[in-house]
Formats: sequence, structure tokens, C-alpha cells
Amino acid sequence: MKVYKFGGASVKSADGVRNLRHIVDGEENLFIIVSAMGKTTNALEAVFTHMQNGRKQEALDEIKRIVEYHDSIISDLWGAPVRIEQVDMLFSQLRNIVIDTTYRASDAELWYDTIVAFGELVSTTVVSQYLNKTGVDNRWIDMRTTFVTNQRHKDAYVDIKASEPRLKEALANTGVGVFVGQGFIGAAPDGTTTTLGREGSDYSAAVVANILDAESMSVWKDVDGVLNADPKIFHDAVKIDALNYLDTIELAYSGAQIIHPKTIKPLQNKNIPLYVRPFGDKSKPGTVINATAPHVELPILIYKRNQVLLTIRSRDFSFVMEEKFAVIFSLLDRFRIKTNLINNSAVDLSLCVEYSWHIDELIKALNAENFNVEKIDNVELLTIRNYNKELYQKYASQQELLVRQSNPTSVRVVLREARF
Ligand code: ASP
Ligand code: MG
Repeated sequence: MKVYKFGGASVKSADGVRNLRHIVDGEENLFIIVSAMGKTTNALEAVFTHMQNGRKQEALDEIKRIVEYHDSIISDLWGAPVRIEQVDMLFSQLRNIVIDTTYRASDAELWYDTIVAFGELVSTTVVSQYLNKTGVDNRWIDMRTTFVTNQRHKDAYVDIKASEPRLKEALANTGVGVFVGQGFIGAAPDGTTTTLGREGSDYSAAVVANILDAESMSVWKDVDGVLNADPKIFHDAVKIDALNYLDTIELAYSGAQIIHPKTIKPLQNKNIPLYVRPFGDKSKPGTVINATAPHVELPILIYKRNQVLLTIRSRDFSFVMEEKFAVIFSLLDRFRIKTNLINNSAVDLSLCVEYSWHIDELIKALNAENFNVEKIDNVELLTIRNYNKELYQKYASQQELLVRQSNPTSVRVVLREARF
């Protein structure tokens, strides 16, 4: 069994879906994980935001645009304006959720997950039916019935042990060897839909690969493989041919957009190689990620936007020490806030964290614990691994630095607003 994952960009149009069909041609033992088409997840996030703010009509208008976008792909693929019953059913469920839900702020993540999951439910329905129509017999798998996750909405982990029998059972006695399932989604023990974090479809594919002991996993992307920097931001990006699991985890964790950080562990545990391959040309080798690839020596630039810098100081001026750290980090965990950089001095602890809806609640809770907190919104985190003076000067020294942290091989800076 092989596992292929197609991201949103690779199925953003009818041509993309036809290309997927071309890539899977001749495969008889394949699990295909598909993300939401194009920018559908962003559009569904907008639906959720309207709902959060009581703007039901705007939410319904946004859904209408999402439906039209999918309709145009479907009519192009089928060569006529057909209706796919399951797609219509999914969209009507989504509309009903928006109409019927009385939103409560404490359930934000639950409703977010319930709404954004429709992107993958619809995309996989279209892909599965199109493959069936074009001679690839396959079975559509509802990953909410196979992936058991924890209750951590918007950032769930899959319980591999609990999911294994369910996934295997879903594939047994189907009479087909090709399966199509949603990336990014699962269900919590209470049955509610969960999502695995933005860009989490890679992780879904890795868990499937782990459970099915796949011979390999491939991620089909709009780049030639893993690059040493985001080519949209840094102009001299180059491709890396091979990477080991450890370097990949480090890179993904620092914010490199190669692969979701949760992806590597399920693969590493079963020693399954991961290929990152260009969907435009299946003859190109892409990048291989495995246990034995040499350590990367090339400079790598990673840029993370949408960060918040918190500087925490205890009000009684006692030093920020171990027991204070424990209080601070347990609050970060309680509000599910992700820390990307930690920098401490005698009296201050600076944290560069991912933007979240709960930052102000965290600050309130910290204030109640006798900490003063200074917050700077909209900062950016730049990491340069294997850095040299020239790169540092080119990308970091011109900017307004709020925090700088370095060791002999890498440097990380928090910037107010980067201008490259
Ligand atoms: N559709 C989701 C997202 O855009 C998951 C994914 O693409 O991996 O974040
Ligand atoms: Mg996506």
C-alpha cells in the first residue's frame, strides 16, 4: 500500500483533479488523502468568523460562493452542469449548521471544526466520484468514523491505537484497492468533528501510512520538492534532495512550510519514507525524507507570520524562576497557546507565540497570578539555520529586532514587521 496526499493547491481546479487522476493512473493499492480545494478552508474560516459575530446572512453568502466555486469545478469535470447528490447534501448540512447554531464563545473551537471540515468532505466526494467515473474504482472513506482523536478541537491528535481497528475494518471486504479519505479531520470520543491543525492533511496521511504499514507516503505539491526557503519570500531558494527525519522535524517546527510538524513521528516510528514531489511532473524525483539522509548543511530560512510577543514580568519583582515558569506554562497549555520561542532574562520572560483567540484571556489569567504582561501584536519570527554573516545581514539586520537568539549554527529573531 502507498499513501498519496494532495494538498489544496493541487486540486484547486478541474485541471488539478484531472492531473490527480493522471498521477494515480495504474496504482492498485493506494490510499489517497485529499485537502479542501484551493482556498476553501480560508473561505470556511470566514463563514465561521461571520457566525462568531452573529452575521448569519454574510455566512450564508460566503457558503453560496463556496458552492459556486465547487459547482464550476464539477461541471468542468463532468462536461455538463451536473449535480452530485452527496455534495448537495453536505452543503445543505453546512447551511443548516449556520442557521441553527446558537454560538457561544466557549465553544469556538468546536464550531470552527464542525464548519471547516466541510471543505475536505466535499473535495473528497468530488475526487472519489470523478475517479469512479474515469475507471479508478475506489471507496470514499469518512475519516470521522476511522480517526479517533483527542478532544482538543482545532489542534487534535489522532489516537493511532484506537483508530487502527476502525481504519482496517473500513478497508476490509470492499473489493477495491484504492481509497479516498479526507485530510485534516477526525472525530473526538464524544463524536464531534475535530480538525488536526491548519495544513494538517500531511499528518492525516502519515497516520494512515503508519496504520497500514505503507511502503511509502508521497505529498504532491506545487514545488519541486523541499526548498531551503519559501520561494515566494526569498528569491534564491534551492531544492534539497534528501533530508533525515530529525532535520525535517526541526525545520517543520521552526515554521518551514514543507510539511506539518506532526507528520514525521508516525512515519519515523515505522521507518516509512516520505517523498515530496511536484504534481506537475510525476517523473521528477522530488525530495526524499527518511532515517538515513545526511544532515543538511545548506542555510535554511524560515519565516513565520502572525505571531504575538508577550513579555512577562512578575509584579513583586521576584525573579522569573522555576515555579513561576510552571505557572506560566500551565496557563499557556490551558489556553492552548503555542509557543515558538522562549527567551528569558533575570526579570523577564519573553514568549513569541502563535496568534490565538485566547491571548487576552491568557493575559488576564497571568495578571491574576501577579504577572505584568506586555503584548506586541503582529510580529514575525525569522529563523536562519546554518546561518552566515551575509545572510544575517541581508535578512535580519535591516529590520526592527525585538528579540534575538542565537547559537553557533542558527539565529532566530522576532521582528516587528519584516520588509524583504
Ligand atoms: N484544508 C486544510 C488547510 O487548508 C488542511 C490542509 O490543507 O492540510 O489548512
Ligand atoms: Mg490546504
